[in-house]
Amino acid sequence: MTYLNVAEVETALALAARPANAGFTELLALPHRTWEGRTCSALRVHAGPTARAGVYLLGGVHAREWGSPDILINFVRLLTDAFRTHTGITQGGASISAAEVQNVVTSLDVVVLPQANPDGRHHSMTVDPMWRKNRRPADPGQARCPSGGGKGPGVDVNRNYDFLWDYPTTFSPRAPVMTSTDPCEEIYRGPSATSEPETANVTWLLDRYRSLTHFIDVHSFGEDILYNWGDDDDQTTDPSMNFHNPAYDGARGIPDSTPGGDPAKYREFLPAADLNEAKTLGTTMRDAIQAARGRQYSVKSAVGLYPTSGTSDDWAYSRSFLDPAQGKVLGFTIEWGPQRASISKSFHPNYPDMVPIIEEITAALLAFCSSVATRAASPPADQTAAMPRQESPASAAADVSGRRGQP
Ligand SMILES: [Zn+2]
Repeated sequence: MTYLNVAEVETALALAARPANAGFTELLALPHRTWEGRTCSALRVHAGPTARAGVYLLGGVHAREWGSPDILINFVRLLTDAFRTHTGITQGGASISAAEVQNVVTSLDVVVLPQANPDGRHHSMTVDPMWRKNRRPADPGQARCPSGGGKGPGVDVNRNYDFLWDYPTTFSPRAPVMTSTDPCEEIYRGPSATSEPETANVTWLLDRYRSLTHFIDVHSFGEDILYNWGDDDDQTTDPSMNFHNPAYDGARGIPDSTPGGDPAKYREFLPAADLNEAKTLGTTMRDAIQAARGRQYSVKSAVGLYPTSGTSDDWAYSRSFLDPAQGKVLGFTIEWGPQRASISKSFHPNYPDMVPIIEEITAALLAFCSSVATRAASPPADQTAAMPRQESPASAAADVSGRRGQP
């Protein structure tokens, strides 16, 4: 066994939508062809009347993180097989029952885009293992980038979303924000927000399925479960201190944990109920991972990794603050897998080391969907009763990674 190549991911996704599953699956060809002319596919899984809520699972955005499409293919194969055959699903020491599987598929729209950046994946698997970005070609007149090691051209798709994308304006000049205006950097944000076909495919799905309420972007590495926000620390008390208030331009992106503290005291607003739900669902995934294979993931806000702009999880969540008609979508990012001896093996472990990770993250995603389905049926009366334990400062600080190898 080894990682699925680009064509095999598409074949496996189409197989999940084969005639035997036609009553509850829909294969979608996404409208924006990649720079190298590939068409990406997504799968929607749902049976019965209109869904009450929806979970959107995204993978394969960063090219070198080879395991994410394999995780999502495993997820859709198990979910569709179990629904059709009225069985449960077991992954290592974690399982969900046949009744829970039926509840997920009949309550939710589950939309899965497993391979958002096929050009980059192909390049990483065949030419440059450390390639991270898409394959946008160099603009005319652009200086030649150093070759190899993941350098340019190309755009980091997960810095290209329309959330605080214009960081030189919106962030503090001193913010250690992980994005770049340099096309040769592996965290290059692109020439404009949502400039890339891969980004536009992701946003197209969220626009199309208004039932979607939760979003998870699957990445590696670090064994982290991240919830909103990623631009700065969270706060629940001042709604006017927010990403779309220009009064705070130049103040964002310095977390309190920065040595010397945060002179601007900017923090990003979210309602306390949302923060509680994010922590609860994050803890649900953490517990499923631990049950599956015994690994201990950290649950924390995304800024706990490093401050970001233009990322998918914050973009998904930000939409309803700008336009309440959009409906709220809580955003998460999973960083699967531990740090290993080499940076390359951390991003794409030897396949035998990837197998238990595929199982533990599949278990986490299934537990997440089951929990969202249950909440959609009967929202908790008192959300504060579901507050999980707080992450310790030690675990929040344990994942500082170098600029060369950001997940
Ligand atoms: Zn990544």
